[in-house]
Amino acid sequence: MRKFISGLIFTVLVVSCSTNPFTGKSTLNFQSNDQIFPTAFAEYDQFLKEHKVITGTADAESIKRVGQRIAKAAERWFNANGYEGYLKDYRWEYNLVQDEAVNAWCMPGGKIVFYTGILPVTKTDTGIAVVMGHEVAHALANHGAQRMSAATLQQYGALAGNLALGMSGSSAQTVELFNQAYGIGSQVGVMLPFSRSHESEADAIGLRLMAIAGYNPEEAVKLWQRMSQMGGEAPPEIMSTHPSNETRIQNLKQLVPAAKQEAAKFGVTSFE
Ligand SMILES: [Zn+2]
Repeated sequence: MRKFISGLIFTVLVVSCSTNPFTGKSTLNFQSNDQIFPTAFAEYDQFLKEHKVITGTADAESIKRVGQRIAKAAERWFNANGYEGYLKDYRWEYNLVQDEAVNAWCMPGGKIVFYTGILPVTKTDTGIAVVMGHEVAHALANHGAQRMSAATLQQYGALAGNLALGMSGSSAQTVELFNQAYGIGSQVGVMLPFSRSHESEADAIGLRLMAIAGYNPEEAVKLWQRMSQMGGEAPPEIMSTHPSNETRIQNLKQLVPAAKQEAAKFGVTSFE
């Protein structure tokens, strides 16, 4: 039996190494979309049930409008780069919830939440596009799945096979691990921070997406500066998973011209 299980784990490991379309690099990823999307969609619906979703306001409309443009930009990028159908299982949703936390996230399959607490920092549609592009980039590059795979290895060892094969969503451990990997937890400090390499990758992809969507990527520099200035005794929740420092902001500045060049390939040369 033991042999049988390790065989299964091995198979899953082999078949689930996936290629990151943005970097061309092969990444460790135990869960395929088929396995992880049903869990993500169920967790998302549960989250919405437990929070107050704002609808019909100008702010809620902004989140939807920007989200749709970012999703469209992602589709155009994938189609133009030989990845037609990459997003076919995505079920995009963009919701604003009433919560003071300065936070936003995108779950696998395009399930996005913005908290009202982040709106004073984003200020405009362009500011929203910075955060949206960045969070969507984490989802598109499967950073959460990689974090979950890494956490599975570290914390759960032999349970990896069960998690990878089942992803039943009913196991409390699975759900907890999932929430940590995707940053959905409500308690600060519970979530795993994104690694520096995932952060710079999401910054680079996010800037391209927002630029292709027609939003000025220069705003990203200002937004993350505003975010990091909010520090103090209670730093914004998003900062616990997205550490922002001077190096990161300098890198963002350097990435702006490439993002604009990418947008020009799609005929987008003026930005709002
Ligand atoms: Zn990030």
